[in-house]
Parts: sequence; structure tokens; C-alpha cells
Amino acid sequence: MEQPAAPTAVDIFGKAGTWAVGKQARVDRAGFYPYFAAIEENLGTKVIIDGREMIMIGSNNYLGLSWDPRVIEASVAATKRYGTSCSGSRFLNGTFKLHEELEEQLARFVGKRAALCFTTGYQTNLGAISALAGRQDIVISDRLNHASLVDGMLLAGGMNRGTKVVRYGHDDIEDLERVLQNLPEDAGKLLVTDGVFSMEGDIARLPKLGELARRYGARLYLDEAHAIGVIGPTGRGTQEHWDDYDSADLVMCTFSKSFGAIGGFVAGEPEVIDFIKHEARPLIFSASMPPGTIAAVAAALRIIEEEPEHALRLQEIAGRMVDAFKSLGFNVGPSCTAIVPLIIGDDNLTFLFHRALLEHGVYANPVVSPAVPPNGALIRTSFMAIHSDDELDRALEVCAKEARKLGII
Ligand code: PMP
Repeated sequence: MEQPAAPTAVDIFGKAGTWAVGKQARVDRAGFYPYFAAIEENLGTKVIIDGREMIMIGSNNYLGLSWDPRVIEASVAATKRYGTSCSGSRFLNGTFKLHEELEEQLARFVGKRAALCFTTGYQTNLGAISALAGRQDIVISDRLNHASLVDGMLLAGGMNRGTKVVRYGHDDIEDLERVLQNLPEDAGKLLVTDGVFSMEGDIARLPKLGELARRYGARLYLDEAHAIGVIGPTGRGTQEHWDDYDSADLVMCTFSKSFGAIGGFVAGEPEVIDFIKHEARPLIFSASMPPGTIAAVAAALRIIEEEPEHALRLQEIAGRMVDAFKSLGFNVGPSCTAIVPLIIGDDNLTFLFHRALLEHGVYANPVVSPAVPPNGALIRTSFMAIHSDDELDRALEVCAKEARKLGII
């Protein structure tokens, strides 16, 4: 009798080969590969890549605090005293007194009664949202929210928990109200928004979101990654910008941007924070922020609180760059912060522009779908309080010249 043919095994690694062919085709079209560029030296506002110095207009080190001698010294001193790692999860052996002290200061800073630190901002969003959103719950999300928020929702929807996620048009308050009206009254609801949108550089209308959240029985979760240190009369973020400390029930922020370090926190009512602390898998199953980083964040927080001049300088730069790019003819969308996208649309043209900028000594980030909507490719420029006027002028000059050559403006 004829034996049935053995099934042909599908090699799970096969997709890597297919992907590599696609990647090569993209490289061939654009003439180079734009991602994972290795920085040889970081000089604050300049970097050296492939032996060439470039003005960095693509960093999130908004206040330049990763270079502040006080932040560096605090980090070195804590590392010398406590070692380089906490060697465990917050849940077990990885909570130091340093974490708790920092959490108290952060809670006070954002006007909440309790805070909890995670090892990255991404983990903060993943952990807080997935801990809170359960089987019967609904997460309501601005369509342009950051991927870490979206992944928090995915984690909540996974593990057979089935949290429902509904999206509304970016900054579209009417659409949001329509969405809220159609949700069941008896479901728990979490409205989630970036404070400053990470690719667009516009500011969420917090009071309006708060009003709707209250009217429809939702809690509001605010991501301040690109807002703290950046907006508000003294750089305290979206709440200060709108003078509204009531609307957001939970405020999160990363330490990888204005704080010049890495990590994140979420702040709110003590009972809710305690719940997240015991339910967030990215907190429980991952090692805690190391001592040197905690000390760096604490020092950066002091500077943000005591020296608003850095945020004010950044705001001056942001206003100037938005105006300058606009008057050159760039499409900067609704940006009004230190994130200024140069919206181009076409992926290849965006990569060509990116390469031209690199060749002329300017480093900015090319962003294509899915990080932005299809045909919404852009060069994301972002500015730091430590940029000099000369550096900004030079960056503008190069952007204008290269964009004209490519017919972008
Ligand atoms: N939220 C927003 C809005 C972000 O832009 C980012 C990072 N780009 C994060 C959260 C995640 O922060 P981290 O890089 O610290 O993990």
C-alpha cells in the first residue's frame, strides 16, 4: 500500500527570508537603508555617524538633561552606592527605597496622590492599561495614539480577556461623543489619549476630553511622554497647558524624553495605583529601574521643577521652527510644539529627502506607515532646549535647500 506523503514542514524562519527580499527592494528604491543608524559619538545637539558630524534634530532629549552635569553626577553616585542593577522585579527583590522616594515626588509633580515607576514608558502603558481593562470593559482610543498605548489595549484584549477597543478620529471631539453615546452604560470605560501627539506635535484638548469622560462615565488616561518639560507655562505638561488638573484620572510619562533617562511612571489615586502594582504583568515579570537611572530621573525632576527656563527656551525654539518651516512652504500639519513633522506623503520621496539631509549634515527621522497613516510619510523633526540659534538656522537652510531640489516645497 502506498504510504501517504509526509507533510511538508513549514519552517517558521521562512518568513525572515521573504522579509529580507522585501527589505532589499526598499533599499534599492530609496538608495540606502535609513534605520538603525549607529551613532558613534553623541555630542548633545550633534552626533557622529559614519565619521561625519551632524546636527541632531530627531532626538527626544527635549531639555538636554541627559547631558546636565547634575543629572550625570547623581546617576554616577547612585551607581557607585547601589550597583548597576536592582537584579529583580519590583514585586520581589527589586524595590529600593529610591523607587518609592521618586514615586512620591512624581505624584506630587503631576498633582496626584500616588505614582508607580516601570522600567520603560512602553511597559508603563502596556502594564497600566492591560491591568485595568478587563473582560467587560471598553477602551476608547484616539486614532493616532502611540503604539505603546495600542499595545496596552492589545494585551488587554489578549489572554482571552476580550477587552473591546473603539477608536475615534484624531482630536475629533464630535466623533468621540458619537462613539461614547453608542457604548453600553454598564461597561467600564477608559478613554486614552496622548497629551502631545508623538508624530503630529499637536496638543489633546484635555478639558473637552475630561468633560465627555465625566458625562459618559469613562475614566481618562493621559500619556505625557512628549508634554512634560515641553508644554505648559512652566513645562509641567498638558494639565498645566490647559490649567486643568481634574480631567485626567491617570497621568503617565516616560523618562526617556525630557527626563533624559529611561523608564516611566503612572500616577493617580492610591487604590488604583496599588491595583496596577499588583496586576501589571510588565511590572511584575520584569526587573526594575536601576539605581543610577532612578537617581538621574530624580535629579532631572528637580531641574524641571526649579528651572522652568529650559522649557521656556524650548517653547521659543518650537514656535520659531513651526513658523519658519511654514513660511518656507512645508506642511507641518497641526504642530504647535517641539515636534514639527514635515509631511511629505510619499514614502520614497521621504526617504530621498532624509538621505539628502544626512548627506548635508542634518539628522532627522523618516516616518512611514504604520507609524503614520498610509500616504502620510513625514520627516519628524524635534528640537531641544540646548540647540543653538546657529544650529537651528543651519538645519533650516539645509531642509529648505534639499526640499526645493526634490520639489517638496
Ligand atoms: N508614549 C509615547 C507617546 C511615546 O512616544 C513613547 C516613546 N516614543 C512611549 C510612550 C514609550 O516610552 P519609552 O520609549 O520610554 O518606552
